[in-house]
Amino acid sequence: EQEVAEYRKMLAIRVSGFDVPKPVKMFEDCGFSSQLMGAIAKQGYEKPTPIQCQALPIVLSGRDIIGIAKTGSGKTAAFILPMVVHILDQPELEKDEGPIGVVCAPTRELAHQIYLEAKKFSKSHGIRVSAVYGGMSKLEQFKELKAGCEIVVATPGRLIDLLKMKALTMTRATYLVLDEADRMFDLGFEPQVRSIVGQIRPDRQTLLFSATMPHKVEKLAREILTDPLRVTVGGVG
Ligand code: ADP
Ligand code: MG
Repeated sequence: EQEVAEYRKMLAIRVSGFDVPKPVKMFEDCGFSSQLMGAIAKQGYEKPTPIQCQALPIVLSGRDIIGIAKTGSGKTAAFILPMVVHILDQPELEKDEGPIGVVCAPTRELAHQIYLEAKKFSKSHGIRVSAVYGGMSKLEQFKELKAGCEIVVATPGRLIDLLKMKALTMTRATYLVLDEADRMFDLGFEPQVRSIVGQIRPDRQTLLFSATMPHKVEKLAREILTDPLRVTVGGVG
């Protein structure tokens, strides 16, 4: 309690919205599987970062979230860890029906980083992660998606291409992450992002992360998130 209060003071974390779940102090408070706890320990993560303290219980409770924080605050694990829990909660299917978790990121470098992080936390549960972004063979990515995965990490343009090619369907996707939304918009991906969101069922859980909240991103958030909680770290946004 006191530690979290310290964190809050130090980094000026603000949470707005109704019925905010209590922040966690430790990863042990999250109810993670032993495999997940093992992967966290293997990463050398001793305790959650301030945004993780706030975001983990919110996302684990199934709520939509807007996370506003600059780079280096630990946003990736804040959306990957609950994504693994979300996937484990879904019924197993006989046949692949597309990914459950979909992550959109602005650049291939970022998509690749998220892919690596996602693999670390999902491997021990046998969850398959695919990364799709420009600069890699579309045919190879098509084949990989056809083979099936539970998580896809993508840049918006390439994901749209692969959706058009019917490399995957979004029928099973219920966990959508838009990472670095402001940068995706700066790079002109607003139409692609909107198209992707439009192809994912409305009863999904949606997470939007951004370093800043320009009007266009704010408008998107209002349109695509349901009753979100807003977590702001530091004097940004
Ligand atoms: P962001 O997406 O907010 O820029 P990242 O998710 O890339 O931040 O994390 C920044 C760095 O902090 C990474 O090197 C990551 O491995 C590390 N990190 C994340 N969570 C923790 C944690 N709980 N403890 C220690 N290091 C962490
Ligand atoms: Mg990030």
